[in-house]
Parts: sequence; structure tokens; C-alpha cells
Amino acid sequence: MLAVLQEVPDPEVPVVSVVELGIVRDIDWLDGRLAVSVTPTYSGCPATEVIEQHIHEALVAAGYSDPLIQRRLSPAWTTDWLSEAGREKLRAYGIAPPVESASKRSLTGQPDPVVPCPLCGSNATERVSEFGSTACKALYRCRDCLEPFDYFKCL
Ligand SMILES: [Zn+2]
Repeated sequence: MLAVLQEVPDPEVPVVSVVELGIVRDIDWLDGRLAVSVTPTYSGCPATEVIEQHIHEALVAAGYSDPLIQRRLSPAWTTDWLSEAGREKLRAYGIAPPVESASKRSLTGQPDPVVPCPLCGSNATERVSEFGSTACKALYRCRDCLEPFDYFKCL
């Protein structure tokens, strides 16, 4: 069952599955229907509906009739839910994975954590734009290898 969801990619970062992203929170049977709880990476993420639709389609294709996809907003997704494999895949894809959890960030009061360059590992990076290729990413630039890259933003 989990194997089915491991095949469902994140529409924004196709190399990472929804399971590796950590947004599949719960799987259960509810009145004979398979119920999957999904927590979006942040509540305004426009990809959430697409993700839910893809999960639904994958389950139906795997033989689960009429699966129930539930959106669970609480507790909110944190970067701690992103699996280590998911982080590695993001990096390999040229996207800097989230560097620290939102809770830690608010405690230290640092709005802009150091984001290491996914291409050369340098910490000499700067944010170019709050929005990268999609609303869920910010655009950064590396001052060492001069390459622009996306940072997987999280709130
Ligand atoms: Zn670099």
C-alpha cells in the first residue's frame, strides 16, 4: 500500500515522492474505504490539490476503490518530516533542501537561514527572489559557482 504512494511524485519536484516529502501523514480504513491523510507543505501551496488528485488516481489504479483523501492542516508540516532520502534527492536535483525546521527558526528569530549551494556546497549564497520557479520555492544564487538554484521554502 505504501509502495503505491512511494510512486506518487511531488508535482513540483518529480524526483521526490509524496512519502519522502513527508506529507502523507496517516493511512487507515474508514467504513471500508482506504483513507489517506495529506498535510500540505504549507496551507497555501497550490500543488496540494494536484497532489491529492495524483494520490487518488494512483490508489484507484492499484485497485483501491473509492479511496478517501483527507487534508489535514494540523499539526502543520515541518521540514523535519522530509526524509533523509528526500533531502538527498532534492540536492541531487539542484534544489537546496530546507535547512532547519520552522519552529527552530522562529525561536532563533532568523528569517534567512544560510542555504548551502546544492551544486558546490558553498555557504556563500544569497536570495535573489522570494519566489523561484514555483510559489513553494525561493530563488537563490551562489557567489562561488555563480549558479542560480531553487530553495525548497517552508513555513
Ligand atoms: Zn555553488
